[in-house]
Amino acid sequence: MSGFFGFEFSEEQDLLRESLRRFLADACPSSLVRETLEGRQAFGAALWSGLAQMGCIGAAIPEQYGGSGLGPVEICVIAEELGRVLAPIPSLSTIYLFAEIVKAVGNDEQKALLLPDIARGQAIGTLAAIEMDPKGRKVPTASEVRAGKLYGRKHLVPDGMIADHAIVVAREGERDESLFLVDLHQDGVVRRPLSTIDPTRGHARIEFDGAATSPIGAAGNGSAIISEAMARAAVFVSFEQIGGAEQALVSACDYARQRFAFGRPIGSFQAVKILLADMHVSLAIARANALRAIWALADMAGEAEWAAARAHLSASAAFGHVAADTIQVHGGTGFMWDSDPHLFYRRAEALGQSLGGTRRWERILIEGRRSGAGGSEAVSVNEENAAESEFRASARAWVAANAPWHLREAIERSPVGALDLGPDALAAQKAWQQRKHDAGWACLGWPTTYGGRGATPMERIIWHQEEGCFARLSNLFHNGQGMCAPTLMDFASDEQKAELLPRISSGQDVWCQLFSEPAAGSDLAGLRTRADRDGDGWVINGQKIWTSGGQYADWGLLIARSDFDVAKHKGLTAFFIDMRAPGVEVRPIRQMNDHSGFAEVFFHDLRIPDTQRLGGIGDGWNVALTTLSHERLAIGLEMPTGFDDLLDYCGALELETGSAVADRHVISRLARFECQAAGLENFMLGSLSRFAKGELPGPENSIIKLVAGKMMQDIAGFAIELQGEAGILTGTDECAFGGRFQGMLLRAPATRIEGGSDQILRNILAEHVLGMPPDMRADKNLPFSAIPAQSPSR
Ligand SMILES: Cc1cc2nc3c(=O)[nH]c(=O)nc-3n(C[C@H](O)[C@H](O)[C@H](O)COP(=O)(O)OP(=O)(O)OC[C@H]3O[C@@H](n4cnc5c(N)ncnc54)[C@H](O)[C@@H]3O)c2cc1C
Repeated sequence: MSGFFGFEFSEEQDLLRESLRRFLADACPSSLVRETLEGRQAFGAALWSGLAQMGCIGAAIPEQYGGSGLGPVEICVIAEELGRVLAPIPSLSTIYLFAEIVKAVGNDEQKALLLPDIARGQAIGTLAAIEMDPKGRKVPTASEVRAGKLYGRKHLVPDGMIADHAIVVAREGERDESLFLVDLHQDGVVRRPLSTIDPTRGHARIEFDGAATSPIGAAGNGSAIISEAMARAAVFVSFEQIGGAEQALVSACDYARQRFAFGRPIGSFQAVKILLADMHVSLAIARANALRAIWALADMAGEAEWAAARAHLSASAAFGHVAADTIQVHGGTGFMWDSDPHLFYRRAEALGQSLGGTRRWERILIEGRRSGAGGSEAVSVNEENAAESEFRASARAWVAANAPWHLREAIERSPVGALDLGPDALAAQKAWQQRKHDAGWACLGWPTTYGGRGATPMERIIWHQEEGCFARLSNLFHNGQGMCAPTLMDFASDEQKAELLPRISSGQDVWCQLFSEPAAGSDLAGLRTRADRDGDGWVINGQKIWTSGGQYADWGLLIARSDFDVAKHKGLTAFFIDMRAPGVEVRPIRQMNDHSGFAEVFFHDLRIPDTQRLGGIGDGWNVALTTLSHERLAIGLEMPTGFDDLLDYCGALELETGSAVADRHVISRLARFECQAAGLENFMLGSLSRFAKGELPGPENSIIKLVAGKMMQDIAGFAIELQGEAGILTGTDECAFGGRFQGMLLRAPATRIEGGSDQILRNILAEHVLGMPPDMRADKNLPFSAIPAQSPSR
């Protein structure tokens, strides 16, 4: 199996998925799920034996015990397909828990006795671990084994009515909890079915009154064995949840395309698109975390438990969200017994609380993160080969020897989106960029001829980690390095590239992106700055606005209108311009957070030669799209969410009730943020890996900024809420955590607008990823000069 970075299922695993999907299409129609829902079948017995014949039940059981001898990744593939069809079978109890525990701690005799029957589909096993008081509260294990006989009562035993064997958690003498095998078809075992929200996966209460048992696993080691088994099972279950969520989303999208209201498909309404896009985002985050957890399964002693907790929590959140909104998209139809959405809704809730419930996993995740495990650093460190470790060591040594350490405190104190370095800020940023460039640490992914290093995406990640807070000194160059330069690489002449790109890499030249105008932001193609042909050059007149770094820029990438009489996307042309040329006037704008990161730029008869045109005349929209696609990745790589700050802050915070990280509400919020932050990181690593293989960042990457922007705002709000009345204070001296959260709060709205607003990004996801019909367009097919335009005055 390859590592997480660039994790891909193998061809064989894809084949397994395809053949299983074909099989399940016939063998598990929703009518079968309903048979179990309505109690006409206890479970899909025929489906279970079909799966056994395909080798799926025993996929991870060794061949010597009648299994297929595959591994946990194959179980994940199988689980996802089972989840997709809501298979009413004992997969959780038998495949993910029972067989895995027997494999892990059973002796040879137990394995030989139990595993072949499981693999053949002739036996069902389960885990009986939960005990409850009469009020439904979980209580410590009271079941006990005396003279080899089991006494006690277990609750919520998954598939307890149809299981043949159970592994039961009980005490024997003074020892800690141990595990015992029990044949459920014997006197001394009484089972009662429980009524639950998802009858398609039954549960039972089981009473043991002198049932014969045999110990399994080391005596007194029960809870450690169960914890490890639950972590594994949590990863498998997360794939079932993802499969279920994906299928629910497919059904919601199909319905949104086919159902008409007000004369159009409901999927063309933005309110519906936003529902669908948000469902897709939840699912993408869950999938990224689940893939990460697969990789961690190989190393159960390491970060696996935290990765599993994160995967299960994210998948629970995603399936719950998608299933609920699938009903919403279906309207009244969704609430009918005979339509399918409620089947997903029931399964989502039931799986979400399986394996100990959400609160257990939240605690595990946050304790893990606070102990330093499962954090972002581990993503790469665990992955590195020898050359990459060497690369890291040399990057670390170089940063140690060359970084402007005297600025470290000021950088770390600066709020997100603003560097408080005083009057020498520009010089400090340029100096660091130049130093990196001279030593080969700038623009790592670029070819060396342009001032880069030809580094791999993995090396870029390693560098980013080693550069640490000093990376913020390069923010000023992001527009140039992340967006303008890649566009120049695609559209400029060889001479221009040779001249301009190394200067961008070294920080000698700052670039800005001259796209938005007062009347053209989201609707960028509505821009009005004019480019008129004049001999062998062009004359530019008009105004740009919100130009990040405009006041520092040496060059700008400009989109202007060269033809007003064709449809709006067709009349645009791209240029690069000298920001110091006569005819360019830059006025910094004061932002709502009292910083001044962007500017207005006016053009008064600016003259530029035709050699500064990028792409053909009228091809400006294509150039803009290229820049924007790079923007998606450039933004994504650098997107802060504030989560690490929040974790540090909460770790040190004492509330009236005690430590903040012991507070249930705080743990729960932290866990949700953690799942999103790690999901973003894992998603971004997947994107980078595809980018490394030559895939341009597509519309799917909109997810990164969409999630990060809102997260930053929510995290700031939550931290301020924890500060209570003092949360309104600003200023580094009086304010908790140096005022970082207040700074974040006042900057976060910008993240949700710049580079495409949240709404536009959701439209993109809904239309270009989920295939929803486009919006109604009042300006469609009209020449630009005939489009009515009105905007509030600014
Ligand atoms: C900090 C910051 C830095 C920026 N830097 C740059 C830069 O360097 N270069 C540059 O060119 N621009 C830059 N911008 C501008 C940015 O790209 C635009 O602000 C953004 O595209 C939104 O355009 P607008 O402000 O005109 O809002 P509008 O397009 O007027 O949108 C207003 C509201 O209407 C919603 N809306 C608009 N159209 C639709 C639709 N079709 N469907 C649903 N909702 C819609 C939007 O989501 C928003 O909520 C920056 C902006 C910010 C805040």
